[in-house]
Amino acid sequence: MFERKPTRQIRVGNEKTGVVLIGGGLDGTTPAPVSVQTMTAGYTYEIDRCIAEINRLAAAGADIVRVAVPERKDTAALRDILDQTSVPIVADVHFHFKRALEAVEAGVHKIRLNPGNIQDRDQVNAVIDACKDAKIPIRVGVNEGSIIERKDKEKRKQELGAYFEKNLIGGKQAHLLGLIIAKLEEYMDIFRERDFADVSISCKSMDAAFTIAAYQEVSKRFDEPLHLGVTHAGPRETGAIRSIAALSGLLTQGIGDTVRISYASDPVYEVEDGLELMYSLGLRERAGIDLIACPTCGRIQVDLFTLVQNVRAKLASEITIPMKVAVMGCVVNGPGEAEGADVAVFAGDKKGIIYVQGERVANVPESEILDRLLDECTAFQRKVLAGEVKLGEKVVEIVPPDPIGELGSGFEKIARGDVEKSTSLTIKGN
Ligand code: SF4
Repeated sequence: MFERKPTRQIRVGNEKTGVVLIGGGLDGTTPAPVSVQTMTAGYTYEIDRCIAEINRLAAAGADIVRVAVPERKDTAALRDILDQTSVPIVADVHFHFKRALEAVEAGVHKIRLNPGNIQDRDQVNAVIDACKDAKIPIRVGVNEGSIIERKDKEKRKQELGAYFEKNLIGGKQAHLLGLIIAKLEEYMDIFRERDFADVSISCKSMDAAFTIAAYQEVSKRFDEPLHLGVTHAGPRETGAIRSIAALSGLLTQGIGDTVRISYASDPVYEVEDGLELMYSLGLRERAGIDLIACPTCGRIQVDLFTLVQNVRAKLASEITIPMKVAVMGCVVNGPGEAEGADVAVFAGDKKGIIYVQGERVANVPESEILDRLLDECTAFQRKVLAGEVKLGEKVVEIVPPDPIGELGSGFEKIARGDVEKSTSLTIKGN
């Protein structure tokens, strides 16, 4: 749908995990679908828990999972973890280049290095050589928060000084971006000199607008595939808006080859929301249920929020085909909005009327809506898998039922004058 900027392609994973391609379009490669990554929230050295978390994230749809390896005991756990998981694993390395060497030795599928904290050329060279021998890629991951020198006090003073000086004249973002690009170019030169091209790049910030500006700049200057993300985006409530604002802005410009949404929450949400973003932008073919639900309003006469949550929770594991399911609160706007749904329910007056590809199949009391809807969805899935019907085959206009006596709510009542057409409000004191 959106023309993607051609990038080099890298491969992550092996026969056991399956290979995830990132980027493409240059050197005769075809652009791979935008992949969705996440990172475990637990300690890597707690082997069983880490394996369980990785498997849970893979089951939620993560294409790649990253783990932190701050200590020797974390890299020591990697062999067991790699043995018992089947998704490509990235070792996230900060400060200690030896963790990268140990992770490569253990058989990890990719390394992430931060130019902000591993700068020694010999150390970077050692990691590059190890990855070259193991034929695994490296992500050069710059973060706004760690780009300013930490170890060398003199250099740190200069960088901070320059940053604040510009900040005073309102050039904060421009200067910070300049600093990031300069560091990134300097770092990427090490890889070029070492003739190592198996690299992806990220350039994350906490600010959505800055993230967009930074990746636009990086995309102009580098052909490496880009890993998109907003760092430290916060809890899901705010992090989702921040992440989706930045990532949608970039993806619709054709920028970005793999994404990680980051929340201060269960990483399963990062995967779910990353995938939903891809589906919503048409960048990936949907796997599983496409749920439409009305926001509810003053016409609602059933507990629609609970119904929608239950439908989502139950169907997420049952439905494996991209079936469109609509859960609508009434028959006023519902039919038009649910048009094209494979299975739809219109609720009202403590009842639900269920349609399958436009044909009315049931009218059940509220207490039975969930079970009947699930039955209809699974039966419909069986028919699709057996080749008896096709998804989205019948785009039928759903004729709303007569609400009088059926649902007891809706425009028919208004049209018949059963409901007052307007009410004048008298505000006390006026
Ligand atoms: S479908 Fe009905 S209940 Fe739901 S928001 Fe629309 S008008 Fe309101």
